[in-house]
Amino acid sequence: MTGYDYDIGILGGGSAGLTVAAGAAQLGARTLLVEKEEALGGDCLHYGCVPSKTLIHTAHVYHLMKNGPKFGLPSVEVKPVDFREVAQRIQSVIRTIQKHDSEERFCGLGVKVELGAPLFRDEHTIDLEGKFLSAKNWVIATGSSAAIPPIPGLEQTPYLTNRDLYSFDRLPASMIILGAGPIAAEMAQAFCRLGTRVSVIQRSGQILSNEDKDTADGVMQVLETEGVQFHLNTAILSAKDLGTKREVVIQTKGGEPLPLKAETILVALGREANLKGLNLEGIGIPYDAKGLTLDARLRTVHKHIYGAGDVTGTFQFTHAAGYEGSIVVSNAIFHLPRKADYTYLPWCTYTHPELASIGMNEKQAKAAGVEYDLWVEEFKDNDRSLAEGEQVGRIKMLLDKKGKPIGVQILGPRAGDLLSEWVAAFNGGIKPMTLAAAVHPYPTLGEINKKVAGTYLSSKIFSDRVKKGLRFFFHLRGRACGPA
Ligand SMILES: Cc1cc2nc3c(=O)[nH]c(=O)nc-3n(C[C@H](O)[C@H](O)[C@H](O)COP(=O)(O)OP(=O)(O)OC[C@H]3O[C@@H](n4cnc5c(N)ncnc54)[C@H](O)[C@@H]3O)c2cc1C
Repeated sequence: MTGYDYDIGILGGGSAGLTVAAGAAQLGARTLLVEKEEALGGDCLHYGCVPSKTLIHTAHVYHLMKNGPKFGLPSVEVKPVDFREVAQRIQSVIRTIQKHDSEERFCGLGVKVELGAPLFRDEHTIDLEGKFLSAKNWVIATGSSAAIPPIPGLEQTPYLTNRDLYSFDRLPASMIILGAGPIAAEMAQAFCRLGTRVSVIQRSGQILSNEDKDTADGVMQVLETEGVQFHLNTAILSAKDLGTKREVVIQTKGGEPLPLKAETILVALGREANLKGLNLEGIGIPYDAKGLTLDARLRTVHKHIYGAGDVTGTFQFTHAAGYEGSIVVSNAIFHLPRKADYTYLPWCTYTHPELASIGMNEKQAKAAGVEYDLWVEEFKDNDRSLAEGEQVGRIKMLLDKKGKPIGVQILGPRAGDLLSEWVAAFNGGIKPMTLAAAVHPYPTLGEINKKVAGTYLSSKIFSDRVKKGLRFFFHLRGRACGPA
């Protein structure tokens, strides 16, 4: 008996918190899950991955409807989008998934769910709106929200964040998106495809600034062709409410101010950890806007209080939150010390074409001073890609000087799914030779994985040295056609 109400208490019922709760309860820990909203599921289910990917697919279907002639089909007159219908479909997908993340399901697993806004009274006790609850271990998994930088006038101007995007009763005629990260790029394309005039404002000279410039530019070019306007190398000077419209003034590369007007402004300038109001200061847990200060085992300064998910300020993805949740379960419940290792953490931006990545890209390798060889294959040389009218994109495979893969990036159709083979390869220590020798079904997009590994291998097999050896031992007589 510990003397505490619970073995483990978790603040936040999103991807990280639910992973910890399900794991801990199924291992027999008396588990408390505290959520401040009315439903479990977190940002991913309600305002992030699920609604955004549903919207993206709807926009893709609409885009295909308008582009029938490109596939030899008759052109059809496509009616404008009724966003209420789109929003209904989004909500119905959320409702379906919500059952999996419901209070009933977690109660069935043995988790006590409490709704409300908690704050720490001491290192083991929270005050949940007057109710004191104690636990031996705590996990802070309260996620993140859109960061709102101090842009002059923005506070007095109506703007949207990811929380507002999926419930319009009318498609916005125009939208200015502040920022050009993954959320901005995905939403820019989706809304543009649905019929919104979209402008994207970005401080640096490329979108998706964590990616290599060539792949990020590949995404940008497609979006530009579809009608998204980009303003790169610009600073946001101010925002203003003009009544039916909003104005954002930017400073162009040349230094001149340029006013842009639109019906809506979407702020997508990064994320801020949800840590205020928990009284972390009161119990001496340090944090900043990015997140908690944690050790490699995801522990705060108090070894029984952990952080998982977006509050870690590392990789803000659902699969990262799930992974971190599993690290916490291992450390807090199993007492098997485990450190978080992000070396092979994959991610994907779900624009069309998608941009997926694992390990180091060229930018990161250069920054880390790692020497590498680069192997590239293009989707325009993949038969399935051509059959589907997808010609944009490439796969990049980075090998270290010993021939070990250190990173793969895929820009192309269903890149996120194609990356899974590399996820297995990296985690299983599989060599390019094994991948190149494995028979892949034809015609599939996945053949591009085999091809890039095979191209690297070909450079070894078909070398002059090997040819010379074979000629010497087996008396091969060389070319039968063309110059000798
Ligand atoms: C538009 C958008 C698209 C995205 N698309 C993807 C994608 O395609 N793939 C991907 O991997 N990731 C995506 N993400 C990121 C993903 O949603 C997050 O990384 C993930 O939700 C993080 O999980 P979490 O558990 O840390 O936080 P959350 O899922 O946000 O859960 C945190 C929970 O804590 C609750 N909470 C907050 N404060 C308190 C408090 N004081 N007390 C109690 N509870 C509290 C919240 O209500 C919430 O339920 C997207 C994000 C956005 C915004």
